[in-house]
Amino acid sequence: MTELESSQDITAEPAEEMYGTVGAVACDKEGNVAAATSTGGTTFKRLGRVGDSPVIGAGTYADNRTCAVSGTGTGEYFIRIAAAHHVSALMAYEGLSVQKACDKVIHEKLSELEGEGGVIAIDAERNMGISLNSEGMYRGWIGQDGNPVAKIYKES
Ligand code: ASP
Repeated sequence: MTELESSQDITAEPAEEMYGTVGAVACDKEGNVAAATSTGGTTFKRLGRVGDSPVIGAGTYADNRTCAVSGTGTGEYFIRIAAAHHVSALMAYEGLSVQKACDKVIHEKLSELEGEGGVIAIDAERNMGISLNSEGMYRGWIGQDGNPVAKIYKES
């Protein structure tokens, strides 16, 4: 069996849920925000599956008027709720802060569908938003004091 054929064995169960996404959001000194997301997709994904990461508005989005967003998790749900754009829209239309917008998308919209994952976001004033409903999400940033911070679990 070729490697390609064995990757299509849809009867096998994945040993564990694994995500391999790397995302970044940034804001330059002029207030331009940017987002990037790269992924290998989900474990045992169907051949040809396209997740949320390359779909602008789902796993990745940036707008200088609101924020830049990158997401990780069950991509099908991120696509369904246009998660990254949803964060931006909540800021634009409801005036939510970037953190509150992230929390609403993850803990209300994504959780309602039983989707799992998280988002990182930054607005043009360099306020950060981080929200997750999964057990953990590796994340790091440079704090306002210039020191690097790294976290894994929800509450740490
Ligand atoms: N969101 C990605 C996808 O569904 C998976 C991940 O975050 O690792 O393809």
